[in-house]
Amino acid sequence: AKPLNPNPISKVRVIARVRPFLSHEISERNGNPVSCISVIDQDFTCREEVDVHLKDPDTSRNECYRLDSFFGQEDNNVTEIFCREVNPLIPEIFGGSNVTVFAYGATGSGKTYTMQGTEEQSGLMTLAMSTILSICHYTGSTAEISYYEVYMNRCYDLLEVKAKEIAVLDDKDGQIHLRGLSKVCISSLSEFREVFTCGVQRRKVAHTGLNDVSSRSHGVLVIAVSTPRGNGNGDTVTGKLNLIDLAGNEDNRRTCNEGIRLQESAKINQSLFALSNVISALNNNKPRVPYRESKLTRILQDSLGGTSRALMVACLNPGEYQESVHTVSLAAQSRKI
Ligand code: ADP
Ligand code: MG
Repeated sequence: AKPLNPNPISKVRVIARVRPFLSHEISERNGNPVSCISVIDQDFTCREEVDVHLKDPDTSRNECYRLDSFFGQEDNNVTEIFCREVNPLIPEIFGGSNVTVFAYGATGSGKTYTMQGTEEQSGLMTLAMSTILSICHYTGSTAEISYYEVYMNRCYDLLEVKAKEIAVLDDKDGQIHLRGLSKVCISSLSEFREVFTCGVQRRKVAHTGLNDVSSRSHGVLVIAVSTPRGNGNGDTVTGKLNLIDLAGNEDNRRTCNEGIRLQESAKINQSLFALSNVISALNNNKPRVPYRESKLTRILQDSLGGTSRALMVACLNPGEYQESVHTVSLAAQSRKI
């Protein structure tokens, strides 16, 4: 048997999550939609790798990629992903480590549903906040949130009344600072919902004034937790959880983007490619990790690598073969050993 996790410290887990067919997609397919994504016999008791099979029902073309885990459309998979993949990482935040969870995939694949959730289904952001708040209650820790987006390689604070651009600076120790980024102390889930919902509204219309840029920007929620060291000096240790709804990884050969759309997607592809390269360098223990190649990876420099932990959730639409191949192949590339 292979070791379960050859490098438990810096390894970034890469998992796939397939959303269900939506009701209009089911009726468009005469009530009988065929998923183009499957896995064979995943055994959840051991956290081993899994082969994700993609098959185009029209042409029978097919591909197969290896990832760390898979969540099919049968389960209530956001809660499942939280319990199996995110919840086990939360104690590390209270110990002072940084943890990052990314949702990655094309527009319409379920990234925002997974991270942000809806009124009926809490996303990973709310589920994590809720768990962190209940642990804070016992440990005497405090939690504060920041929420910002990275659009066209610029960073905007979403907790300000008007989304404000934030400068990204490195100090002489190589620490990254987002100058003036708002931090809001959170003590209950209802308080979180209120603050976060305002930020989400701002993200929809931020800086362009009217367009919904949310699928073309990376949305980053940070939950910073300060825990008393218990040495009687009032010292605290701070860890943070970054929860990131990445911009859609559209394939330009297919979407025929022009003008500003093309510029946006060039920036998006550049930053997703940079992210994939950083993750791959970490997973392969490369001596040099190329953090500086995009704003996103530069901001996350203190949260990827070292003792930090990360989870990449590749989101898939079961009715889109080509798009799913694009997402899963890039995801598999980031974990390739
Ligand atoms: P993205 O953010 O990747 O563009 P969304 O999260 O907006 O995609 O999801 C696309 C659509 O699929 C939305 O209508 C969303 O509500 C729906 N959806 C995604 N996941 C699920 C799920 N598990 N159950 C029901 N509907 C879902
Ligand atoms: Mg979205």
